[in-house]
Amino acid sequence: MRRFAVEHQAVRGEFVLLGPAWLALREHSDYPPAVRNLLGEAVVASVLLASTLKFEGELTLQMQGTGAVRLLVAQCTNDFKVRAVARFDAARFAEGDSAMDFSTLAGEGTIAVTVEADKRASRYQGIVPIDGVSLAASLEHYFANSEQLPTRIVLAADVAGAAGILVQRMPQAGGAQSGGASADAAAAESARETLAWDTYAAASAALESLAADELLARAPEDLMHRTFAGLDLRLFPAHEVQFRCRCDRDRVVSMLRSLGAAEVDSIIHEQGAVTVTCEFCHKPWRFDAVDTAELFGAAASHAPGSPALN
Ligand SMILES: [Zn+2]
Repeated sequence: MRRFAVEHQAVRGEFVLLGPAWLALREHSDYPPAVRNLLGEAVVASVLLASTLKFEGELTLQMQGTGAVRLLVAQCTNDFKVRAVARFDAARFAEGDSAMDFSTLAGEGTIAVTVEADKRASRYQGIVPIDGVSLAASLEHYFANSEQLPTRIVLAADVAGAAGILVQRMPQAGGAQSGGASADAAAAESARETLAWDTYAAASAALESLAADELLARAPEDLMHRTFAGLDLRLFPAHEVQFRCRCDRDRVVSMLRSLGAAEVDSIIHEQGAVTVTCEFCHKPWRFDAVDTAELFGAAASHAPGSPALN
């Protein structure tokens, strides 16, 4: 992930290119190509969104609709650890999916962006309807509605990589000075505004002419300088994006406790153990009779009024 800015102008952007992280993320998954590519776009989008915000925690991009992909979840932490999963209607992909476009994949529904902070119990959520054109177009609406920032986004993904670029028109730094501003200052301010809008328009047009294969294949610096040729671009240092799942034993334990001892015991009785597989990384969390006796024993002794032996 690399941030960039146009020198001396209120236009900024980000570039994301995932290789190994994208392969690791879906290592144990078997998605039809169209689902896989949409998932890759969503992961890149979650990184782009996370890098526009200041937070400590996890950002979740969730798409839920009536299309062949029923649910798509992509998550990115503030230090760029990603994970993602898609649920899809397998019957719709039985005869191949080469012609499946975004509107067929997504259908009608919503895209929700949620930020959950680690330390405080704060939560932020913005929701936009799915725009049938593309995931990128849907997210442009998200930025226009939720952040009031004019934004252009391109996204692309294939079997080997996933990439995207975001360009934003930022509010002018400093802004209009209060009281006593001279006519000259107002004129200078207005000229800066016009210039920033022209720059944003040029950068947007450059993104529109960018082909998906070029976005995925070119080396980052080469791509940026070619795409935004003519703009005085400043590239900031790169941040590594890695696949990392946040599943842990404690979460599985609380899930088993919520199922209840009777239900868990009956599974143990039939199968010898309970195995809960993480939907994101496919890690199997296995609990045998000894493990579950321990976890329900602990739960029972804490529950008020339960017939625990003390
Ligand atoms: Zn996991």
